[in-house]
Amino acid sequence: MYNVKSAKAEEFISHQEVEDTLKYADENKNNLELIDEILNKARKEKGLTHREASVLLACENEEKNKEIFELANKIKNDFYGNRIVLFAPLYLSNYCVNGCIYCPYHHQNKHIPRKKMTQEEIKREVIALQDMGHKRIAVESGEDPVNNPIEYILNSIKTIYSIHHKNGAIRRVNVNIAATTVENYKKLHEAGIGTYILFQETYHKESYEKLHPTGPKHNYAYHTEAMDRAMQGGIDDVGLGVLFGLEMYKYEFAALLMHAEHLEAVYGVGPHTISVPRIKKADDIDPSTFDNGISDEIFYKLIACIRIAVPYTGMIISTRESKEVRERALHLGISQVSGGSKTSVGGYDSSIDEDEAEESAQFDVSDRRTLDEVIKWLIDTGFVPSFCTACYREGRTGDRFMEICKNKQILNCCHPNALITLKEYLEDYAKPETKEAGSRKIQEELGRIENNAVKNKTEEYLKEIEKGARDFRF
Ligand code: SF4
Ligand code: SF4
Repeated sequence: MYNVKSAKAEEFISHQEVEDTLKYADENKNNLELIDEILNKARKEKGLTHREASVLLACENEEKNKEIFELANKIKNDFYGNRIVLFAPLYLSNYCVNGCIYCPYHHQNKHIPRKKMTQEEIKREVIALQDMGHKRIAVESGEDPVNNPIEYILNSIKTIYSIHHKNGAIRRVNVNIAATTVENYKKLHEAGIGTYILFQETYHKESYEKLHPTGPKHNYAYHTEAMDRAMQGGIDDVGLGVLFGLEMYKYEFAALLMHAEHLEAVYGVGPHTISVPRIKKADDIDPSTFDNGISDEIFYKLIACIRIAVPYTGMIISTRESKEVRERALHLGISQVSGGSKTSVGGYDSSIDEDEAEESAQFDVSDRRTLDEVIKWLIDTGFVPSFCTACYREGRTGDRFMEICKNKQILNCCHPNALITLKEYLEDYAKPETKEAGSRKIQEELGRIENNAVKNKTEEYLKEIEKGARDFRF
């Protein structure tokens, strides 16, 4: 039975409710009166239910689909302006005891090189990331209680935060590790992590069990209830996501929103972010063997509908996607992108042979540009790249963050913070042409700050940064 507040995965992600939602959406996909009603509600920018959003996703009317895309773009602008937050993944270890059939790190893959970084190696990776200009990373690791116990993850986080190379610093460490216990989530919280990210992969229980035939991840309920345990452990910023291509996208979409509704109903705070990975080629993985692959057009519609359904949730796209796809997605709701990413263990350290490092990659990267090229591209396409980590460092997490965000108050600090952190990047890491374009962009954007006190303070900070000071924030 469907119960949004239930502690049981099969009740808050009720298969029957998803099926009923899909039926309802299909029956109403050409019901223009209902679609208009839902669009009018969505224009209030307070979100939609999974049923309402599913009708929009199913809608086949060209005119209405155009309105959906326009509205997604408007909501994106109203909540996030033209800022795009940058991050990079950092793979600690690809040892894994699970049997996920879509991932080359699965236990049965005997020919992929296995690697677990030492703290010294992590230090070199972090220095390489800092030298690129990154301030925010997402730590990734396979599940292996012997090789990657929680103590290893905690030590690694400590190492990452402790390194300050030249003007560099990693100011926010998000963590993407396997579902674990409340006790371990407490430890991660105490270690000062930003967001705890865990992709559901698929919400469809039967498919889930087939796709995860062996290992602890086989347990659907334990995996699906992980965010509840994370919240009980004190982590109030959690990141959801499904791996599109494994199951029917309409099913995943409805269930993903039901998961968000569950967190909101029980803990008063929805997901901090939603990621939208699509299955990609990798060592011993051929995406064409999964029959639920989605076209770029459907992918864009999914992004737009998620944006409309949960306006205040950050949306992330990685370098799995090409420059072209990422560019379109930025206009439909994406607020965070990775840049200059390596998806292998030890991939950033230039002393390690690149081919050798790539052999241990989790997936093929489509966007292979350097971080500086990504920054220049964002500026040239009208966006403001941001390295801001202010909320987390000011303790604005969970419901305190959501409260500000839902009231769009965030625009008062996000924009100047973006300019300040972009300035740091330009001073410390940018190529001359990026610095020139970025400096022009900062001047242009300064003129858009309406509050004079904030504008003056921002100008003051920008001057201080030129003189060598760092780490200002609103
Ligand atoms: S998806 Fe994660 S848990 Fe599954 S095999 Fe890959 S690294 Fe292991
Ligand atoms: S001020 Fe907060 S919400 Fe805005 S960009 Fe910075 S960290 Fe994100």
